[in-house]
Amino acid sequence: SAKQKGKSCYTLFNQKMYKQAIWRLELENALRQALERQEFTLCYQPIVILTTGELAGFEVLVRWQHPEKGTISPADFIPVAEDTGLIVPIGTWILQAACYQMATWQIRFPAAKALKISVNLSVKQLTDSSLITQIKQILQETGLASQSLTLEITESMFMEDISAINRQLKRLTALGIQISIDDFGTGFSSLSYLHRLSVNNLKIDRSFVSNLFESHRNLNVTETIIKLAEQLGLEAIAEGIETQEQLHQLQAFGCNLGQGYLFNAPLSAEVAESLIA
Ligand code: C2E
Ligand code: MG
Ligand code: MG
Ligand code: MG
Repeated sequence: SAKQKGKSCYTLFNQKMYKQAIWRLELENALRQALERQEFTLCYQPIVILTTGELAGFEVLVRWQHPEKGTISPADFIPVAEDTGLIVPIGTWILQAACYQMATWQIRFPAAKALKISVNLSVKQLTDSSLITQIKQILQETGLASQSLTLEITESMFMEDISAINRQLKRLTALGIQISIDDFGTGFSSLSYLHRLSVNNLKIDRSFVSNLFESHRNLNVTETIIKLAEQLGLEAIAEGIETQEQLHQLQAFGCNLGQGYLFNAPLSAEVAESLIA
């Protein structure tokens, strides 16, 4: 009957919600212990000078090796880490480990002196009042020059108090650190304030680049971001370059930097090191 059917739908719905809630709780609990259990590792995706193919640096991408569930994607656990506030200690560890790794490479390989390490920062980290002190301390302890560090933030952060965000960005760039706006073109971006922001690079979101020839819109948006960066004196970085055709089109648009599976997937520290050597 309809009543029975309604009831079983209701039960199914509840079961699904219940399962989701349990999964979420398990994830939170596991995340709380993941740092001390040393379950995080860092991957390094090369950022390449598109005209020469030379290495410009690496973007650091975190990986979580859960003891039972295997590798969990940052797209799945970073939001949970942000909701719970765990992103702050986890983010500190990532910054520390990334700076230490790049400093070590720069000591071992003279060619690595010119390379930059690019670290993703969540909004909770950026608005954390201890961030500046913490970064100064990490740079001092690891011996990494501030010029070797880039921080990636997302457009959505400007939905917060934009002048407070910009004050924090100014403190970072005053130290010599570079700022990239990640996933550019997908979020809330107002051209009227972009020129006032203390940023250095626009990273063109991979949804445009990986599907460059899928639509005129993707081509137009990509070209516009590259021209916009040029106008503002910023560097455009294309993410998600997967084919030679995409590379050639980006070069024709005048884009100087990029990353993607065409060059390399995110690499283990060992493989990244062999690339530097
Ligand atoms: P993102 O910062 O935009 O990083 C780029 C993502 O694109 C990475 O996914 C990378 O593996 C993937 N990718 C790179 N090249 C290609 C390509 O050619 N094709 C395709 N289809 N994908 C490509 P990943 O590692 O899964 O990271 C996802 C997101 O998680 C990142 O997006 C970033 O927002 C976040 N994330 C990763 N690591 C960290 C971190 O250490 N801290 C914070 N706060 N967020 C992080
Ligand atoms: Mg990024
Ligand atoms: Mg990105
Ligand atoms: Mg992206």
